[in-house]
Amino acid sequence: MQLTGPWYMRLHWQVFIAMLLGIAAGLLGGEAIVPSVAWLGTLFVRLLKMVIVPLVAFSIISGVASVGAGASLGRLFGKTLGYYVLSSLLAIIVGLLLVNLIRPGDGANLVDAEAAVLPELETPGGPTDLLMRMVPVNVIDAAARPDMLAVIFFCILFGIAIASLPKDPRETMTNFFSAGFEAMMKLTSGVIRFAPIGVFGLITKVVGLTGFASFKALGLYMLTIAAGLSIHMFLTLPLLLVFLGRINPRVHFRNMIEPIALAFSTSSSGATLPVTLRTLEKEVGVSNRVTSFVIPMGATVNMDGTALYECAGVLFIAQVLGIDLTLAQQAIVVLTALLASIGAAAVPSAGLVIIFLVLDAVNLRGPEVEAIVGTMLAIDRPLDMFRTAVNVFSDSCGAAIIARSEGEEGVDIA
Ligand code: ASP
Repeated sequence: MQLTGPWYMRLHWQVFIAMLLGIAAGLLGGEAIVPSVAWLGTLFVRLLKMVIVPLVAFSIISGVASVGAGASLGRLFGKTLGYYVLSSLLAIIVGLLLVNLIRPGDGANLVDAEAAVLPELETPGGPTDLLMRMVPVNVIDAAARPDMLAVIFFCILFGIAIASLPKDPRETMTNFFSAGFEAMMKLTSGVIRFAPIGVFGLITKVVGLTGFASFKALGLYMLTIAAGLSIHMFLTLPLLLVFLGRINPRVHFRNMIEPIALAFSTSSSGATLPVTLRTLEKEVGVSNRVTSFVIPMGATVNMDGTALYECAGVLFIAQVLGIDLTLAQQAIVVLTALLASIGAAAVPSAGLVIIFLVLDAVNLRGPEVEAIVGTMLAIDRPLDMFRTAVNVFSDSCGAAIIARSEGEEGVDIA
């Protein structure tokens, strides 16, 4: 990480100060201030979204083209999936234990709380549906939506095709895509310089628009989720870094502070993706070969914070309704929470909308359940910020661990 120059010139400090200023502006200005500053955040998120598709495409194609289709690609794929499942399951188990221990739903007073209207987000039907969505019938259309899983799938195949060309065209194509990737990284670095201004706009809007009545009613529930997410972020993932990657968690956390802060402010792993990719390569020192594989897919598929939330949220709703879920039902919740986190889009509130998938698996449905989810939505933003930060941090831990296991020594040097 760049540690030269006065502290206030460093981007993560500027982002941190912007957050504090945003909180102050939101508290003092309330709803009235929102229209005059919210556009700064919206503009910044648009800039981030602008770079996502080309950055991810160039990154994956150049990464996979240089790895080739052989055993090496299979090994990377295996390690990546293994890490995704392991880290998400650990997160879910923490959520399960905490909600069973604290039982925040037992005394929750949802009568005073305000419900909110659920946004329209696509919920996947199940594993086959997810598989179908991965294969685009029209790759330009997939990129235009953007449907990231489909884009990733096409780019991996295209990279493999390049790797299997004869020497001359292979080198031409590989050089073209790695040069394109460098150019996109430069562009991303330029966009990131506006992060403090964007973060100020985003945080002012959240704080200015949020009412506090619902927070009181669901206080214990929020604390339970926050405790679970903290355990995962500050205990479980650091342990994985130490034992699987021989990496100093403190150094890794410090290196990743910018993407974490951005995930927190935007509530979107997708919007944070360009910054995550760039930071892992430039600050943490992971090769493009590994980041291009672990990160774009991880942003859409590996969501530890969301997985924890799905499980904890469903158990909470059952507690509010006075229903005791059996051990077998809780096991179903664990598995469907994993699936739901894989299927959740990398955008704000996706985790809460997709909770219906898990609720359905244990027969929790009907107007009462919908009303409770609506109430949960009213207080979802801060939890979403926190779980998105966990989602992004977990992806970065996976990339660092896998890079180490592939023999990359320059990872997370202080
Ligand atoms: N907002 C989260 C993300 O983008 C998903 C969620 O709502 O849990 O990672």
